Amino acid sequence: MSATRQWILKFIVVMLLAAALSLKPGQARGQEGIVVESPQAVVDFGRSITFTAKLKAPLPIQQASLLFRGINEEVTRVESLQVAEDGSVSLMYDTSLNVFPPFSWIVFWYQATLADGKVYTSEPIKTQYKDDRFPWRQISQANININWYAGDDAFAVSALDTAGAGLLSMKDFVPISLTDPIDIYIYSNINDLQDTLLLGGRDWAGGHAHPDLGVVLVAIAPGVSQFTEMETLIPHELAHVMLYRALGDKYYEQMPWLIEGIASMVELYPNPEYANVLESASRNDTLIPMTDLCASFPADSGSAFLAYAQSQSFTTYIRDSFGVSGLSRLISAYSDGFECELGATKALGLPISQLDARWRETVLKQNVAGVALRNLSPFILLLALVLIVPLWGAIDLMRQRRKRAAQSK
Ligand SMILES: [Zn+2]
Repeated sequence: MSATRQWILKFIVVMLLAAALSLKPGQARGQEGIVVESPQAVVDFGRSITFTAKLKAPLPIQQASLLFRGINEEVTRVESLQVAEDGSVSLMYDTSLNVFPPFSWIVFWYQATLADGKVYTSEPIKTQYKDDRFPWRQISQANININWYAGDDAFAVSALDTAGAGLLSMKDFVPISLTDPIDIYIYSNINDLQDTLLLGGRDWAGGHAHPDLGVVLVAIAPGVSQFTEMETLIPHELAHVMLYRALGDKYYEQMPWLIEGIASMVELYPNPEYANVLESASRNDTLIPMTDLCASFPADSGSAFLAYAQSQSFTTYIRDSFGVSGLSRLISAYSDGFECELGATKALGLPISQLDARWRETVLKQNVAGVALRNLSPFILLLALVLIVPLWGAIDLMRQRRKRAAQSK
């Protein structure tokens, strides 16, 4: 009996101790640190984000700042704040120079130095940098969200179907994930889209992906050409997201022509202009060496278009010659950090420059030996000069000798 009572007493003591211990941090939180009341981040897309809150602290606030960064950024922005009598703070941050990608997430938090000289930090808060200029609607299936504002429900359903078909068509080249969400935003025209970001050399394309954010932006107008545009743009941009998800940071180690080549290869309606551009560049001998496209893509639209056309054709040639496993080996070699030529030699047994020559010969039906000879012609002329000049000299010398011999006779 007494043993039981002792046990109950011990139990009560332990419970009381536990309660006291668990209270301690709670009380500490109440006595120090800062409390951020009604924090808000109001986006005026393309112009600004206005952060407002009320900072509450048990001691007077000596200095306060707002800290924020894009969710995948490494650099944190720090802005000093004026704290009003009642603790109100407000900061308008200029976003007119596309500092944040559209629909990306921003993390922000507050920091304050109190009268005790210590710095206190609030919990981080997430907010989305939405393009709020349009009345977005959304439909979803599996992990794909279609966001659109022009066109009827059938338009959005077509986009959803195209995304599904695109994922199916790429599953042999790219491991596809059906869990992490992908947000596809369909603008109704290229101008609305261009306002959101600098598309660089690809402004003719009407599509852009932020693979690390799982965000795809495309411009497709409802109408007769909507289906072909969807079939070109949506699978292409989805491929960028899926490649990034499969490769992580190794995505950035890949050669630009390979990434764009795969993305262009999975288009359900490939750009019909690609063939014409390739044919004429081949005829005029203005093709870009594929090794150049290992470094970067040209900035001007005309050359960029040719670069995409070449990448699509060249990647297809590699797939047809070495199989999907060849493409995978190439991706792995570049993931391992091998450079352009060496990566291809390791994965496929030939450097890119030689694959380039074979592609021109096989796909573009170029007479590579003839092209080589044509490229060599200035050297042949030079060689001829180098050989002929001394020959002339020798003949001249012989003639003079003969003349002298004749004179002396
Ligand atoms: Zn692309």
